[in-house]
Order: sequence, then structure tokens, then C-alpha cells
Amino acid sequence: MNLTLTHSSSNLRPVIVLLGGPGSGKGTHGQTLARAFGFQHLSSGEHFRDHILRGTALGRRAQVKIEAGHLVSDEMAVGLVREMLGANPGAQGFVLDGYPRSLAQAEALQHLTSELGIVISKAVFLKVSDEEIIRRLSGRLTCRTCGATCHETYRPPAVRGVCDNCGGALFRRTDDEPSAIRERIIQFHEMTTPITDFYQSSGILIKVDAEGSPTKVSTRIMSAIDGAK
Ligand SMILES: [Zn+2]
Repeated sequence: MNLTLTHSSSNLRPVIVLLGGPGSGKGTHGQTLARAFGFQHLSSGEHFRDHILRGTALGRRAQVKIEAGHLVSDEMAVGLVREMLGANPGAQGFVLDGYPRSLAQAEALQHLTSELGIVISKAVFLKVSDEEIIRRLSGRLTCRTCGATCHETYRPPAVRGVCDNCGGALFRRTDDEPSAIRERIIQFHEMTTPITDFYQSSGILIKVDAEGSPTKVSTRIMSAIDGAK
């Protein structure tokens, strides 16, 4: 599959933006998509965790937000995405996972396209029902040290209570308590609808049913992208 054909008239590198709520499988499908197209998979969550582990100024600011269960600010997220995209001059294209999280971030990315020599070619929205989000979020555990997440049922750590990534202690964020989840879902829809509207109006939005096995969902994503060319 060759997404770059769509933009063969320019030297701009294509970016696939992956959108979806917590637990929608962005990380898994981001990696699969990147492999299929020969693109670089960029996860803003992983890059923030890397900053946290290295103890950079950005990492320290991000850690405060993440520990409190808040999203990082638009300004921090934009700085990170510019760094991620700029740090891979040899990549053929990118799959962006975890960014944008707000309309302001989507607009900021659009303003960075000429500076970074990229074009946003597709925005793939992974649709998961509210009921399924509740099932997935209510079992989620977060590492106190590096911020990585796992799930007590779907993706359990090798050792109970211990982070697979760094050996730190796992805890349940207060906003992963069932009572807080409904409020987060309302917020998620409020934040995400303007982003999907934004990409819909550019004619590049693809919505994919993201429930079911990862293999089935991957197949749906690939055929949706193929069909949208
Ligand atoms: Zn950890």
C-alpha cells in the first residue's frame, strides 16, 4: 500500500492522524498502520513518558499534569509534536497517535505543515461506544513513575501492581474510578467533536468501528483508508 501516491505531485510527507478515546486502541493500531505504510509511528504519550523519565523541564511539567489526571496544556502538546515530527527527517511519513487532543492543537498542527514539510492526509477516528469505554477505563492502572498504563483484565502487568515498563508502582487514577468515568466521557466527546468536525470539513476524516478484535479493527482501518483514496 502506498499512501504517498496521493501526494506524488509534492515532496510533502503524509501524516495520518489517529483519533479516539482512551482505550480505543490508538497505540496498537498506530503501530500496525505505520508498519503497513512504512511510516514512523509517533505516540505523544510515549514521548511525554520519555521526557518524564529523562527529567527534562517539559517532562517535569507534564508529570504534574498527568499525576493530577489532567491533560497536558495545548502549548506543551504543540511543542512536543513539533519536536517529534522535526526529529525524524528521514521518515517517509508519520502516524500520529495521541495528538491532537483539542481543536487548538489540530489548528496548530495545520499551521506547522509547511514548516515541517508535511501534509495531513487522513484523520482516522476509532469509534468505541460509551459502554465499552467504561469497561476499558474502569480496569485501567497507571504507573506512578513513568505514566505508562495497563489494564487489570485486558492487558494485565506481568507482576501484579508493578509496571512492566519501568518496575514502578501501579495505581488507579482517581479519574479512572467508575464514578468519574461518565464525566470524562462527556468531556471526551466535547473535546473530540470539534476535532472530527475540523477534519470532516477538510474532507479527510474516516470513521472506523473500533470494537472487536484488534485484527478485525486493523482490517477495517486499512480498507477504509484504501477506499477513501
Ligand atoms: Zn512505569
